[in-house]
Amino acid sequence: MRPMLKSALSRTWRDKQTLQFGTEPERAHVVDQADERFCAFLDLLDGERDGPAVAAAAEGLGLAPGYVTQALRSLTETGLLDDAAAVEQALAELPPSRRELLGPDLASLSLLHPRPGGGAQVLARRTGLRVEVRGAGRVGTAVAAVLAAGGVGEVRVVDQGRVLPGDCAPGGIPAQEVGRTRAAAAREAVRRAGGLPGQATAASRSARTEPAGRPPDLVVLAPRDGSGAYAGDAVEAHTLMQAGTPHLYLGVIEHLGVVGPLVLPGASACGRCLGLARTDRDAAWPRVLAQLSATGPAQPREVACDGAVAAAVAGLAGLHALLLLDGVRPPSVDGWCEVSALDGMVRRLRLPPHTECGCFWR
Ligand SMILES: [Zn+2]
Repeated sequence: MRPMLKSALSRTWRDKQTLQFGTEPERAHVVDQADERFCAFLDLLDGERDGPAVAAAAEGLGLAPGYVTQALRSLTETGLLDDAAAVEQALAELPPSRRELLGPDLASLSLLHPRPGGGAQVLARRTGLRVEVRGAGRVGTAVAAVLAAGGVGEVRVVDQGRVLPGDCAPGGIPAQEVGRTRAAAAREAVRRAGGLPGQATAASRSARTEPAGRPPDLVVLAPRDGSGAYAGDAVEAHTLMQAGTPHLYLGVIEHLGVVGPLVLPGASACGRCLGLARTDRDAAWPRVLAQLSATGPAQPREVACDGAVAAAVAGLAGLHALLLLDGVRPPSVDGWCEVSALDGMVRRLRLPPHTECGCFWR
C-alpha cells in the first residue's frame, strides 16, 4: 500500500486550527487541532511512498512511529485515505485514453467505497463485466454510452434496421449517422463514450477477459417504441427469468420516462408482477397490452419521446445499473422510477412481488 489522501476531497480551514475535508455534510470530516506537525505529515501522503517510507520521512520531521501509526489509522477509519498502488493496478490494463476519462468516476467511487483502494477495486471489477442493451433508440444507445463511460468492460447494443432521425439523441447516436445500421452506429457511440481507441482493441480486450459464451451480467430492455416502460414482452421476460439474468426495463411512453423494475430473478418483483399489478387497477389492461404489442394503423405514427426526459431516463438507468453491478440494491428493484415531462418531477413507486405471479415460487 502507498497511502495518499483522496484526491476527490477538498481541504479547507474552518478556523486557524480546524481542517475540513470535503464539503457535503453527510461525508465531510473535520480535524480539530490540525497543527503544523499534522499538516507536514499530510504532505507525505502523496502516493509516492509505501508505509515504511512514510514512517522514515515522518521520523525526519521529528514524528514518532506511534504518531504515524495512529494518524494513518485515524485517516483510514474516517475514509480519507486511498491506496495509490491499488489505483495504479486497477487502471494498468486500460488504454491511456480510457484511463484519463475514468479519472472522475474513480474519484467518485473512492468516496462511495471508503477503505483505501476500495473505489479502484470496484472500477476494476466493472471492467470485467458484460451488459447487453436491447434497443438502439434515443434511450437505449444513451444508456449503453453511460455504462461504457462508467467503465463497464463490454457493452453490446442489439437492434436491427437503419438509424432514423428519431433514433438520434445527445449522448446516443448523432444525427450524422442517419441511414447507417443501428448496430454499427450504436457500437460506435459506445466506443466513443468509453474512450476505446478502436473496435479491434475493444474486441481483443473482450476476448482476453471474457470466457466464450458467458451470459451478460445485466440485460437492459429499452425498445425504441418505449414499450420497455410497461414490460409487456412475456416471451423475452420468460427467457431472462429462466436464465436467471438480471434485467432492467426502461423507456419513454408519451410524457413519462420510466426506469424499472430492475428484476433480480427469484429475488425481486418481475415484469409480469408489474403487469398483474396494473391489471388489478385496470381489468382491461391485458387486452390493451395485446393491441399495443401488435403492429397496425392503431399504433402512433410518431413515437413521443421528449429528448430531455430520454436523457434523464438514460442517466438514471445508467446509475441504477452501475449500482447493481457494484453490489448495491438500487430503488428500481421492487419498484420503478418515473420522470414526468409535465412537471419535471421524479417519483419512485413501489412494486411488491405479486401473489399470483409465481416468480418467487420454488
Ligand atoms: Zn413476478
